[in-house]
Amino acid sequence: MAGSTASRSTDGGRRYAGGVKKVLVIGGGIAGLTAAWDLSVDHDVTVLEASDRVGGKLRLEKVAGARVDVGAEAMLNRRPEGVALAREVGLAIEHPAIASSRLWVGDELKPLPRSLMGVPLDVSELAASGVLSPAGMERVLAEPDIAPSDLTADVSVGALVGERFGDEVVDRLVEPLLGGVYAGRAREISARAAVPQLVAMAARGSLTAAAAALPVSDVPVFAGIPGGMGRLPEALASSARFAVRTGASVERISRAGSGFRVHVDGELLEADAVVVATQAAPSAVLLMDLVPDAAAALARIESADVVVVTFAVREVEARPLLELGASGFLVPPGERRAIKASTWSFAKWDWVRAAGRGAGAYGEDLLYLRTSLGRHRERVLQLTDHHLEVGSLADLHAATGVRLEPVATHVQRWQAGLPQYAVGHLDVVAGIRAEVEAVPGLAVCGAAYDGVGIPAVIGSARRAAAQVRSAE
Ligand SMILES: Cc1cc2nc3c(=O)[nH]c(=O)nc-3n(C[C@H](O)[C@H](O)[C@H](O)COP(=O)(O)OP(=O)(O)OC[C@H]3O[C@@H](n4cnc5c(N)ncnc54)[C@H](O)[C@@H]3O)c2cc1C
Repeated sequence: MAGSTASRSTDGGRRYAGGVKKVLVIGGGIAGLTAAWDLSVDHDVTVLEASDRVGGKLRLEKVAGARVDVGAEAMLNRRPEGVALAREVGLAIEHPAIASSRLWVGDELKPLPRSLMGVPLDVSELAASGVLSPAGMERVLAEPDIAPSDLTADVSVGALVGERFGDEVVDRLVEPLLGGVYAGRAREISARAAVPQLVAMAARGSLTAAAAALPVSDVPVFAGIPGGMGRLPEALASSARFAVRTGASVERISRAGSGFRVHVDGELLEADAVVVATQAAPSAVLLMDLVPDAAAALARIESADVVVVTFAVREVEARPLLELGASGFLVPPGERRAIKASTWSFAKWDWVRAAGRGAGAYGEDLLYLRTSLGRHRERVLQLTDHHLEVGSLADLHAATGVRLEPVATHVQRWQAGLPQYAVGHLDVVAGIRAEVEAVPGLAVCGAAYDGVGIPAVIGSARRAAAQVRSAE
């Protein structure tokens, strides 16, 4: 199981019998574990994880009687990497039972119109949702007449969408959507990094026309894992294909001949190759000696702190929420609420609903739901658990009219939870990779590079593993 697979390596030398090379992977989040999984086919791999368990942002905690995700809880299904890895390790896939989110605007939960990061897929659906004012809607309808955008340089998502559809679309749609994925600000996050498809579409002319012409797909957008996304790192770590050392905080990496020396808790470990799969800030420290410019670039990548508050409530009490037929709601920052979103896990995932049956202390049925708080530069970590809980419950009451009295609450703080992809991020990453790739046997992966979503992170890890191999 995760966190219990500690195995001290006694081999100070690098080469194993039969020429199998030794690889150290630093960071036991989904990136590090994926790189270890790939490389362990023909390498001797050890994952060094600073905390007491693997998984990073994929984490299960027991709340009342059931284990539920307190970090990431879904993955994109329309990118292959996440679902493919889950299947590779023998896990089943589940799609949301309800995938119908709402938007809390002007004291009302309105239907969240289908969009590509705010760009309406159906303008009449947007009009019917009532999310925009009449003036805001008029601005949207004028988009086809606007000259093609100049996209020779990277711009923010907010600048791209705002220029074409007006500020209201940015404030009421792009902000809550980007707030959910990146905990970021629409007018700061790079369009090329976050929404390359929109950039390609905008270069050709009207986004309204391009969005309307997108093929309609009945492939579910999201996938989950029965029992929680947290089962994915657990399955990888318990595969026994590689060793995991938890409580192993790496302090430094240096060269040792053609290989590397890794400093961990006063001990020196040697390896032929090293994969650095930590967040941007620790990666900057670890890479300082080897690739100083890349390390400096990583140090400049900012992150947002976020908090997830999970509630277990008695089903009898929360039944009105079930009747709303939604999977949760998003909150635009302009609404000035405490929370930025609420996910009704009981409605979204059949496995969560099933896990809650009889999970109360007296065998009563429980429903699980969560709120999330924290956008870039908001100081949410300093708030007390009580403050976070009370603020969340007050917002849930104001949004739904349902007053909840949880039987259990879990507060998960994610310091530097989500890296911020500022305008120009792709160039920054290209520069980092160029310097790293010039050091044979060194590779980097994780949420700081090619996307923060789980499939993108897995993709970056598989790329890192391939790079280690190609340098041999
Ligand atoms: C609250 C929240 C909800 C999210 N929800 C979703 C979602 O629903 N779907 C989705 O696709 N994505 C989601 N994401 C994003 C996604 O979960 C992350 O981007 C992804 O899991 C990051 O994986 P990683 O391996 O790059 O980093 P991490 O998970 O951060 O792992 C890095 C690991 O490195 C370790 N480490 C750091 N320094 C050292 C050191 N010096 N020595 C050894 N180890 C070290 C850390 O302890 C950590 O375990 C969410 C993120 C957050 C914060």
